[in-house]
Amino acid sequence: MMEIESPFKEIVDEIQELGGDAIKYCYQCGKCDTVCPWNKVTNFSMRKLIRESTFGITEIELEETWRCTTCGKCVDNCPREVRQIDDVVALRRMATGYGVSNELLKPVRSATASLSAEGNPFVQDRDKRADWAKEPGVQLFTEEMDILYFPGCLPSYDIRLKQLALATATILNKAGVNFGILGVEENCCGESIRKVGNEDLFKRLAKDNIKTFIEKGVKRILVNSPHCYHTFKNEYPEFNVHFEIVHITQYLCELIKEGRLEISKEFAKKVTYHDPCYLGRHNNIYDEPRELLKEIPGLELIEMLETRENSLCCGMGGGRIWIDTDMEERFSNIRIEEAVSLGAEILVTACPYCIVGLEESRLGLGYEDVIQVKDITEILQEVI
Ligand code: SF4
Ligand code: SF4
Repeated sequence: MMEIESPFKEIVDEIQELGGDAIKYCYQCGKCDTVCPWNKVTNFSMRKLIRESTFGITEIELEETWRCTTCGKCVDNCPREVRQIDDVVALRRMATGYGVSNELLKPVRSATASLSAEGNPFVQDRDKRADWAKEPGVQLFTEEMDILYFPGCLPSYDIRLKQLALATATILNKAGVNFGILGVEENCCGESIRKVGNEDLFKRLAKDNIKTFIEKGVKRILVNSPHCYHTFKNEYPEFNVHFEIVHITQYLCELIKEGRLEISKEFAKKVTYHDPCYLGRHNNIYDEPRELLKEIPGLELIEMLETRENSLCCGMGGGRIWIDTDMEERFSNIRIEEAVSLGAEILVTACPYCIVGLEESRLGLGYEDVIQVKDITEILQEVI
């Protein structure tokens, strides 16, 4: 193990205390840089960031500290288990503690204020959180119900992503699932705000959600977002609570296997599936989405080059969903181009964040008449 000798030892200690302890194992092989998606679109060195962290000389206000999308590719490929994401989050916690504020972080400030006041990052009224559920007549959760459906912030408020919540409700109703929502009592899961370094606000949101889950007698939680899935499953247990968390792709497989959901129509399209980082790499759910797509008659599933464990990040994780990315630096452009070059008519995924990034690229690149971007629930609702 490398001993740290730095004139800025206090800063090194602070980074390590804030969660970046494993940086001391780095031996600067550079493998992280070879797999990082940023190096497909610009120059970014996680190796350099780690080195600077070990000497306490990182300039935390620079964009470099805020680039990482926490996709997990470098973590999976590091021979020394350095846990690069923990280092980045530690630096961002430090920046939050010092009140670092610049143009780049303006949208993060707005999201922070909105999360504190309304429980969502989009400066939307808490009272409107469940408006999407009125038309399908979704009920509020009660203890007798089978499962709590937690749509999360994007499907609750975003015009495009509401389609995903509606598709989910349609499918659940068709399968006769006794489910409910928290309505205006639902708060953001807190995933992105934690990744940009605001640990206090993350804890507040998590505790509010946990209190509501316990009060309502929630045992099983169904989510669309892999970010909610990851946070509830892997991070909320830090508060000594354990709920059963189910991603929609897992639940739909379960419903089909139990014979509660029947696929009755054809879907004669060429489709390629994009693995979201927080569903695949972070939580090892690769098979269920593919199993679902293979159940659909007429659907031709084709694989992209960077798939499953090697999937290319859409660029929206790690709080980057709030931070502007230059059009020419978007990883999602590469994804769309690849799907188009394969002749796919639909690029399907299972994450609201990915849909935001991929839709922006699809429209930005002028492919609106060439390819569609859909959530897997949107396809399923068409064939049942
Ligand atoms: S892959 Fe791991 S050991 Fe190699 S430079 Fe990156 S962080 Fe250091
Ligand atoms: S987690 Fe992903 S985006 Fe972040 S440095 Fe590693 S490879 Fe790059």
